[in-house]
Amino acid sequence: MLKPFTYLLSLLRCFTYTVNQCLSSTSSLLSFESDKERGWQVVPLLLNNSPNLETLLIKGLVHRVTDRCGDACVCIARKKMEEEEVCCLSTCQVKVLKILGYGGTSRELNQMKHFFGNLKYLETVKVGVQAENRREDNNVNKNYQRITNALTKLPRASSNCQIHFF
Ligand SMILES: [Zn+2]
Repeated sequence: MLKPFTYLLSLLRCFTYTVNQCLSSTSSLLSFESDKERGWQVVPLLLNNSPNLETLLIKGLVHRVTDRCGDACVCIARKKMEEEEVCCLSTCQVKVLKILGYGGTSRELNQMKHFFGNLKYLETVKVGVQAENRREDNNVNKNYQRITNALTKLPRASSNCQIHFF
């Protein structure tokens, strides 16, 4: 009996997701939330269609790896890069990048490396770190330190870029 309702709910969720993204693309702010069940295939489209974009806000970097993930993320091995195609990030005018719920996994770090290496106009990066206890390391502060250190060491395409953690 619950099935039609669940279906309707998931349709509604998809719809809201798409509308939110479309509306955001016309302003100087683009914000979206990653979902473990969805890929980032629309992200390059949004970035390419947001000429006034100055602030990019992403809630969570972990998303579903699909074969349609574009060059905004690092899910697919660099087939496209070998053909010297321009990465959608490198033409982006984004000055402020805000990441919420950053967990510091190697996948997330790779994604940040991709952002730092391609966003040439970055001035401010704000990262909301979610330092969780690891089994082998019961010290949250140590984990937090490890996460923030790794991020500050990443090479940046913008020489003018400051990183803030919160
Ligand atoms: Zn992806």
